[in-house]
Formats: sequence, structure tokens, C-alpha cells
Amino acid sequence: MLKGKTAIITGASRGIGAGIAKKFASEGANVALIYSGNKEKAEAVKAELSGVKAEIYQCDVANFDACKETVLKITEDFGGVDILVNNAGITRDNLLIAMSDEEFSAVIDTNLKGCFNMIKACGRNFVRRKYGKIINLSSISGLRGIAGQANYSASKAGVIALTKVTAKEFAGKNVCCNAIAPGFIETDMTKELPNRDEYIETIPLRRAGTPEDVANLAAFLADDISDYITGEVIRIDGGLAM
Ligand code: NAP
Repeated sequence: MLKGKTAIITGASRGIGAGIAKKFASEGANVALIYSGNKEKAEAVKAELSGVKAEIYQCDVANFDACKETVLKITEDFGGVDILVNNAGITRDNLLIAMSDEEFSAVIDTNLKGCFNMIKACGRNFVRRKYGKIINLSSISGLRGIAGQANYSASKAGVIALTKVTAKEFAGKNVCCNAIAPGFIETDMTKELPNRDEYIETIPLRRAGTPEDVANLAAFLADDISDYITGEVIRIDGGLAM
């Protein structure tokens, strides 16, 4: 259970992040919900939570100064932070030959640099308090590479390396850092996928994942019961990338 813990969840206005916020709150965690532009959706997620403290914060995770200010504000508002979930992410798919500089940089800046920014903004306090749980959202795209996702696959492979470095640098201070690598999860990010039904047939468990599936794993990694796990990458993909 996460009772009494405070968690920052980036990208909490929709999809997997919203699922994690609901699961954490149901286990008693106070939650700071970060969104980028969708204030109404973030408000709607907050309105579904009860019995815990929950606040929403606008912050572009690609901007370090914004992350630093937001983490400071959250620390003041909640009196400390115990858990950081780096979930915010975007796609800008294109074949490598046709991929623009903007498409490549936007994805790296949000998905990879965003994790670095938030870890840096929260890390000093975790180290000082000798406690912290960091959970980064990677993807099976970062494990095996997916055609049309040079930017996204590179960002998610980078998240895995960043997770391992963070785990090694922070381990002596009782701060754990792990990555989750989802496969195909039903969210806004995947709703435009062409040949959806044929794709699902290639998943050994024969269904798409849900935000709740991922939220259950995030709750395990945020909980003290997983205290001896760090630097790990856990696939949650119905067996897709086996
Ligand atoms: P989603 O439904 O598209 O939601 C993305 C979330 O990220 C939104 O809350 C969005 O905020 C936020 N966000 C985007 N850019 C941001 C920025 N610059 N600063 C702060 N927040 C930002 O995505 P999802 O499918 O839930 O994916 C969540 C994470 O899981 C991502 O890292 C994704 O790469 C990873 N993942 C997803 C799948 C999948 O199949 N869905 C598979 C593997 C990995 P606004 O609502 O304000 O725009």
C-alpha cells in the first residue's frame, strides 16, 4: 500500500498516467498530477480521486527550469515527495529518411530529457532524505526498435540507460529507479494504429493492455514491497516482445 506517500506523476491527464494516478490514490497516496496542455482532462482525473490530497500542475517536462519550479512548488504544497513517475511521452512517427529535425528533437526532448529533468529536479531531495522511488516509462520500442519510430525508439532506449545510471548513482542512498516497458496499451497514443485487429493477433495474450495493467505494475514498483529491485526493466506487453 502507498498510504501516506506523495507521488508526482507526469502526463497524468490521460491514458497510462491517469490510470497510475487513480491506482496510487486508491492505495492512499497523495498525488501531484502534471499535465502539459489539457487542463480540463487533468481536472477531471483529479475529480475522480477521493480521500487523498491531489493537485494538478501545468509543466512542460522538456523544460528544466519549469520542472525545477514545479517540483519546488509540489514539495511546498505536499511537504515532501517520495515517488516520481516519469510517464509523460509523445510520438511523432515517420520513416527515418523523411523524419524532420523537429520530429526527432521533440520526441527526444519530451521522452528522454523530460525524465532527466524530473529526476534532476527531485533527486537531491530523495538523496538527502535517503528515500525515493523513481519509475520511468520506457517501451518495447526501446528494447527492439520499431520501423517508423527512430526518434521514439531512441528516446525509450535512452530511458533504459538513464534508469540504470540513476539506479547505480542513487543506490547508496536507498533510492530505487526502475523502468516499465509497455507493449500495446489502449490510450490516445495508440488509437490511430492502422491494422489494429491484426496487430492484436500478434500479441500472445491476444488483447491490448489497459492503463490499469500498467498502473498495477507501477504501484508494485512504488511500494516498499519492491525495495530490493533497482535498475530493472519490466516488460508489460502480453508477451509481445518475448
Ligand atoms: P497519452 O495518452 O498520449 O498521454 C500522454 C500524456 O503525456 C498526457 O497526459 C500529456 O499531457 C502528457 N505530456 C505530453 N507531452 C508533455 C510534456 N512536454 N510535458 C508534460 N506532459 C506531457 O500517452 P500514453 O499512451 O498514456 O503513454 C504514457 C507513457 O507510456 C508514454 O511515455 C509512452 O511513451 C509510454 N508508452 C505507451 C504505450 C502505449 O501503447 N500507449 C506503449 C509503450 C510506452 P496533456 O494531456 O496535457 O497533453
